[in-house]
Amino acid sequence: MGLKTRPFRVGQSTVIGGGAPVVVQSMCATKTRDVDATVAQAAALQKAGAGIVRIACDSDAEAEALAEIRRQVTVPLSVDLQENYRLAAKVAPHVDKIRYNPGHLYHLEPATPVAEKVAFIARTARDHGCAVRIGVNCGSVDPELQRRHPEDSVTAMVESALMHCGILDGLKFEAYCVSLKDSDPKKVLEGNRRFAARRPDVPIHLGLTEAGMPPGGVIRSRLALEPLLAEGIGDTLRISLTLPNERKPEEVTEGLRMIEDVKRGRFTAPPASTDRLVIISCPSCSRVENDRFVDLAEKVRSMTEYASPHDLTIAVMGCRVNGPGETDDADLGLWCGPASVNLKRKGEPLGSFGYDEVLGRLKRELDALIAAQKTS
Ligand code: SF4
Repeated sequence: MGLKTRPFRVGQSTVIGGGAPVVVQSMCATKTRDVDATVAQAAALQKAGAGIVRIACDSDAEAEALAEIRRQVTVPLSVDLQENYRLAAKVAPHVDKIRYNPGHLYHLEPATPVAEKVAFIARTARDHGCAVRIGVNCGSVDPELQRRHPEDSVTAMVESALMHCGILDGLKFEAYCVSLKDSDPKKVLEGNRRFAARRPDVPIHLGLTEAGMPPGGVIRSRLALEPLLAEGIGDTLRISLTLPNERKPEEVTEGLRMIEDVKRGRFTAPPASTDRLVIISCPSCSRVENDRFVDLAEKVRSMTEYASPHDLTIAVMGCRVNGPGETDDADLGLWCGPASVNLKRKGEPLGSFGYDEVLGRLKRELDALIAAQKTS
């Protein structure tokens, strides 16, 4: 697996690429400022077999917490940069890898060219011995590439990844990998195959975003990742599952089990998805503002079981940072705020509802969509 890519090191203990064993990653869903809880979860993920643990960091206070977390854990740490790329300077001293999303680089300082922002991240990473992941995501693709390829999100993702590889190559920064994530297994398959064909030297981080709850989330992840691993594509991966905090290590055990299965030629995913009603939900992270998110996702799944014969997608997201964008393509989308849940139908906002009332409104909207399918 991953034989042709160039290797790079993350921290002291982890190598990505160059034929090294595929590294399984996971991410803490605890509040980053809750140092004890985050240290405990990072240790639990490491014990389960994670080679890298990612932590969300959006503020100076979280960067300070990160410094303390770093002192208390031994697993290589990665951090997610959202819109504020300048936070790289505050987090880089405490982590081994920085992930940036090309689609998020347009928000802060819009007049500054993206290449300059990438140069800042690369310089900061190099100064602190950090690796980088170019994390391209379907819900937040570079707006210019989206405009150029309005009907073809896979091409927009691949072009975005190639463009950012070009920027890092131009800076002679080599310790990087790329991810191309979507919530649709077919798009993950196609995007990663096309990228690997164009840049067989670049290590790839595999993943299906918002895979949802197990067991469906594991099956949907395997639909995309099993064939890619079997083709030698993928040097590191994450199975992103919506799980309560105490079960988070299952992301790692499921990833390791899949790698072992593929090695032995045991493919457990069906050749195509058999689900008609698809429920996608994010794996949650420090940005979740209401702990009822995972419970809500589970309730949405059980309440909507009656709709399983219908071709519909429901998206349930944990926060206001990524929720609005990531629910755009769903038939019904929910994202959680501190006290209420926002609901939209086919990209149109329907308002926000209390955690106890949103399921009733969701059911009415779902019934209306099913009725519309029957009459069309
Ligand atoms: S949608 Fe929000 S809460 Fe969920 S994983 Fe993404 S950033 Fe975290």
